Amino acid sequence: MVKLQVIGCDICRQTPALTYEIAASDGRSVEVDLCSNHGESIEALLADFGSLAKKGDEEAAEEAAEETAPVVPKRTRTPAKKAATPRRRPKVTPLEDIEALKKKG
Ligand SMILES: [Zn+2]
Repeated sequence: MVKLQVIGCDICRQTPALTYEIAASDGRSVEVDLCSNHGESIEALLADFGSLAKKGDEEAAEEAAEETAPVVPKRTRTPAKKAATPRRRPKVTPLEDIEALKKKG
């Protein structure tokens, strides 16, 4: 089932609206849906600072995170179960010895 989600401006409910996420390194963050009118100031900021954004570091970090995100179970080479059984061969008593023991007993 496809759920169509229409985003409306948080201020005037007008659609379409864009979701803007503003985050500061001190932990503050805000997520707002704004139409083109109310998002104007943020659009201006994006235009102003877009070129200044430290894309290099952040994108590299994000890409690295994305690459490591999917947890692929590593195929650990489990030792063959045969190795678990002791390699020592059962001591085979020669027939002669058995006969000798019998005679002794
Ligand atoms: Zn609006």
